[in-house]
Amino acid sequence: MTNLLSFLKSNWDTKVKPFIKLDDNECWRWQRGKNVYGYGRVCLTRTNVLYTHIASYMYHHETLIPPGICVLHKCDVRDCLNPDHLFLGTKTDNANDKTSKGRARGVQSLNTADLTEIRRLLAQGVTHTEIAAKLRTSIATISRVRNDKCNYYTKSR
Ligand SMILES: [Zn+2]
Repeated sequence: MTNLLSFLKSNWDTKVKPFIKLDDNECWRWQRGKNVYGYGRVCLTRTNVLYTHIASYMYHHETLIPPGICVLHKCDVRDCLNPDHLFLGTKTDNANDKTSKGRARGVQSLNTADLTEIRRLLAQGVTHTEIAAKLRTSIATISRVRNDKCNYYTKSR
């Protein structure tokens, strides 16, 4: 881990920089692999897979990220690496940030159309993780919809 910064420095120009594309909002969009939630990932070595926004923060600020601290996006663009769009926060900040931006939606925020869509995707065999990412809700919510334990699903909104 102590070598990670020097490792990033020596690999940035070949493994990260060529795959960044500037968009109209000055977001540095990652053009390669992403996880199911849309966060960029870069393989520096077989054992060093980093989230690109975290790698970018570490590279530009020349610092490691302490345990329990998250790198958050001001711009809310998950595959953005622009260090000016990134800031550090706690996991709680991250949760609050998501809630305030309306991203992590609880089950009660789902409307009838969402529920129909979730059930349709489940019937197609789409994974809970993919559905949660698509509808911007949690995996637990998808499970609850599948198990149909809550009668408020039937409320019309
Ligand atoms: Zn951005």
